[in-house]
Amino acid sequence: MHTPLIDPFARAIDYLRISVTDRCDFRCVYCMSENMTFLPKKELLTLEELDRMCSAFVRLGIKKLRITGGEPLVRREIMTFFRSMSRHLETGALKELTLTTNGSQLEKYADDLFAAGVRRVNVSLDTLDDDKFARITRWGRLPQVLRGIEAAQKAGLRVKINTVALQGFNEDELFTLTDWCADRDMDLTFIEVMPMGDLGNEDRLGQYWSLKDLRAQIETRSALTDLPENTGGPARYVRVENTGQKIGFITPLTHNFCESCNRVRITCTGEIYTCLGQEGHSDLRGPLRASEADEVLEDAIRAAIALKPKGHDFDYSRQQIDGQVSRHMSHTGG
Ligand code: SAM
Ligand code: SF4
Repeated sequence: MHTPLIDPFARAIDYLRISVTDRCDFRCVYCMSENMTFLPKKELLTLEELDRMCSAFVRLGIKKLRITGGEPLVRREIMTFFRSMSRHLETGALKELTLTTNGSQLEKYADDLFAAGVRRVNVSLDTLDDDKFARITRWGRLPQVLRGIEAAQKAGLRVKINTVALQGFNEDELFTLTDWCADRDMDLTFIEVMPMGDLGNEDRLGQYWSLKDLRAQIETRSALTDLPENTGGPARYVRVENTGQKIGFITPLTHNFCESCNRVRITCTGEIYTCLGQEGHSDLRGPLRASEADEVLEDAIRAAIALKPKGHDFDYSRQQIDGQVSRHMSHTGG
């Protein structure tokens, strides 16, 4: 029997997000630069190593596993990995296997995901306008994603839409997006844009649309009731009284959620980040590759959890970007 993962601030860690690739078939402006240099293959954890890593975490008490990227569904043979993770669902050790995707490959994989035990997917979608979609994702095409979402629902997957709130970009689509999701029985979560990666030409302060303002706009149409639901992360939920729809707000910059943080993230190269907003990380690939027995890896996981910081330092309040983290979101996964 393994003792569960508890960090120095008495938070139980039962949620792992793991990035399975740094690559993507889109180039969203707030996430990647146009000309990304991707990692050589040998740097990435192989599918077998991903399996060993996740299985070690499941033994140590991880109950929820979210697969992310880059775009997880562009990783070659990724369904082999999903299928192999389903054994942990069957034993009951793992309660939920899920993924965050841009939706471009869902039409192809929705049935396979369902067969592997996935029941919910988060699909990122910032606009319902073809031209704007092409502009924000640079390489993406909206109809393909919409077909993916439809296929996911048809396969029996519950879809939640994640929308990055961007000033001057999708403010005018607030009600189009909320109504579109309500009509399709999909939950919707807005995300505040975060200061990740090098800023390049993108003016993040200009893009920043406070979710407080967004919420106030929704309230002009309907009363909102705060829901007690707390997933241990930065998301807070409300019910829209007019429609019964559930809407989430992820406000890492304006809300203090760190005290209930239950999660850690692993990059596609096997680095563990115990806080999204801090640079501190530890290498787990070395220990994983050092020994075929998992004790070395498990010790390294425990040592990393023992270093989990109390919280992050993002702060826009002084109209400058403090606590900025230099790595790209596609590196740590969203
Ligand atoms: N490719 C998948 C996708 O787009 O859903 C998974 C990886 S992506 C990095 C995960 C989430 O991070 C997406 O919902 C995306 O919108 C979000 N994201 C990326 N860069 C961000 C940023 N700078 N601020 C806030 N959210 C960001
Ligand atoms: Fe790719 Fe997702 Fe980043 Fe967009 S947000 S570039 S889809 S990883």
